[in-house]
Amino acid sequence: MKELSRRDFLKGAAGMAAIGALTGHSVFASEQETGTGQTSEAGAYTYADTIVWDAQYDVVVMGMGAAGMVTAKTAADNGAKVVIVEKCAEGEAGGNSKVCGQLFAYANGDKEAAKTYYNALAGGRDIPEAIVDAISEGVANMADTLEKEFGFDSSEYMDWTGSTLGAMSPEYPEMPGSDKMALWTTHAGVSDSYLFQGLKRNVEERSDSIDVWYSSPAVSLIQDPISKAVIGVTVEREGTRMNVRALNGVCICTGGFECNREMVQQYLNVINYAPRGGQFNTGDGIRMAQEIGADLWHMTCYEGLFGLGGVTWPAEEGTPCAQPCTLTRNALNTGASILVGTDGNRFVNESEIVRHGHLYENGIWGNPTYPEKVWLIFDETQKGLIEEEALLEEEQWAAVTEYDSIEAMAEGTGCKAEMLEATISAYNSFAENGIDYTAGREAEYMRAFDGNKYYAMYVVSGLLNTQGGPRRDENAQVIDIQGNPIPHLYSAGECGGITVCMYQWGTNIAECITFGRIAGKNAAEEKEPLPAYEGAAAVASTPAMPGEISDSSAAEAEYERGENQYIGKGTGMGGDVVVRITMDGNKIANVEVLEQAETPSIGGAALETLPQQFIGLDSEEAVNAVDAVSGATVTTNALKTAISNALLEAAKS
Ligand SMILES: Cc1cc2nc3c(=O)[nH]c(=O)nc-3n(C[C@H](O)[C@H](O)[C@H](O)COP(=O)(O)OP(=O)(O)OC[C@H]3O[C@@H](n4cnc5c(N)ncnc54)[C@H](O)[C@@H]3O)c2cc1C
Repeated sequence: MKELSRRDFLKGAAGMAAIGALTGHSVFASEQETGTGQTSEAGAYTYADTIVWDAQYDVVVMGMGAAGMVTAKTAADNGAKVVIVEKCAEGEAGGNSKVCGQLFAYANGDKEAAKTYYNALAGGRDIPEAIVDAISEGVANMADTLEKEFGFDSSEYMDWTGSTLGAMSPEYPEMPGSDKMALWTTHAGVSDSYLFQGLKRNVEERSDSIDVWYSSPAVSLIQDPISKAVIGVTVEREGTRMNVRALNGVCICTGGFECNREMVQQYLNVINYAPRGGQFNTGDGIRMAQEIGADLWHMTCYEGLFGLGGVTWPAEEGTPCAQPCTLTRNALNTGASILVGTDGNRFVNESEIVRHGHLYENGIWGNPTYPEKVWLIFDETQKGLIEEEALLEEEQWAAVTEYDSIEAMAEGTGCKAEMLEATISAYNSFAENGIDYTAGREAEYMRAFDGNKYYAMYVVSGLLNTQGGPRRDENAQVIDIQGNPIPHLYSAGECGGITVCMYQWGTNIAECITFGRIAGKNAAEEKEPLPAYEGAAAVASTPAMPGEISDSSAAEAEYERGENQYIGKGTGMGGDVVVRITMDGNKIANVEVLEQAETPSIGGAALETLPQQFIGLDSEEAVNAVDAVSGATVTTNALKTAISNALLEAAKS
């Protein structure tokens, strides 16, 4: 695998040395090795040539979960040199794919049934037919695909449909098409990382064409300003930021945002929760895609835990939460045991067999609206039953508080005493009359509180995985806010998954494999050359984005320059930022700002001090010299661009 070090690149620079875009990436391209991977004609260069690349591959895959591994493997099988950049060290890598149940949805070869079913799961929401077609094709053939393409042995496969686990297969038996839906694993075991390890072997067996960089989080996407093609990724590796060129494609496979509290609160409206899966999915891919104009979809969709209204006990930060009760009714979710929110009201049917955190409401199985705080409350008789069934560990019992009265419990929990009184009294009457007017709990699962002691335990919503992220099409291309594919950018897996409303267990893994195959194949395909800057006219016709390369040649014409003086232009918040630099040998001796219209208190202030910081630097030092002044990033980038364009003119002279 060829990795160009920054030094090699700089050493090799000859002819037109484009020194540029100090906007975070800078520039040196040689005639032998340009950012396009092609030879530049003299005088012509692409945006990729303006960046110092630390490594170059055909395809860069971000994230090493199931989606990332399938994407990388497929891209490699289609002739690409691939790097997977993974945020975590090897032991922690793998996100939800490593810790998940390992079950995959399988439609027994019946694509039409799968289509009918997945359309029904959308619950009336719009979902592109082509997306339904793609996932249905994948799910219909999943058992075969895993055997033929990924080396799993079908004689070891296990069909869980109809078993205890299979109570979730089909998860929506009342929906059309469900009769063909099954839930399988690739061997007789669940939650043992077997599928994950098998996919990882596929990557390792291709070490001649796939590199894996652990502990190397992707930080941002690098986009060509003219074509909007994503041409690389900035990665943090061993404490340094590196620009990794992707000649043919970049794939976002960074999972969801289940471990980003701010995003969970913002998009899922869940305040206090505990994640169950990998602890490092913080929505990074979503933020990177947003940064370059990707549209988002399915941001409010998520999967939760199975029993007791989808709640669990709080977990220590950075550790997965428990799954308190699975697909059965037990002493925690029946009898005199209820969930109440901050004010003391009930809000769910506690006995419902929760479908991945979804509860039935008005024709749809949706995620409940959790109050800020939730308490599990039970009576003395129920305590005995919970002990008998050994449903709580010692540690959880330690978090249960005993109270002599409802008033005392209200004081201890912070619930409103009169509301808590009313809730328990109403529940008792529902239990006695066999009808739950609050949440529709069945008579057989209710029992009035015995009136002896009361017990309360603080619980939180349990979160398996999120589904939202950048919108993708059936070709696994990421779509921008205008509805157009962002060239060379793909995604697979739960970062922008296809689930729009209700979820069938096994679909997430099936989706990683389905869209990973599509993304890998399409990303590997050779792409059209990037548009070239061919002198002043071509560049001038392209509006410059803030901080991006702009038309230095036009600026050249307008401003005077003396000996060793060069002009460059960038685009700030208020318009053009034009500088004149004076070179002393290969060092910058002076930087003058000739034109700018930045906000005086922010950008204007930055322009008073920032130019001095470049003085005495050579072009390479200038590349890394200056951090953005707080609050004036666009202006700072405009200045850097202007200086880089002036340096470019110096290099050409
Ligand atoms: C407990 C549990 C059980 C589940 N059971 C099932 C099941 O049986 N069947 C099923 O279909 N689904 C199941 N799911 C859901 C399923 O596991 C996930 O949706 C699926 O694994 C997501 O795969 P992925 O590759 O998209 O993301 P992940 O597997 O989460 O991988 C994402 C990877 O990206 C890395 N990453 C994150 N940010 C960056 C960055 N900035 N740069 C580089 N790398 C980054 C992460 O470290 C991680 O390695 C379960 C989920 C959980 C939590």
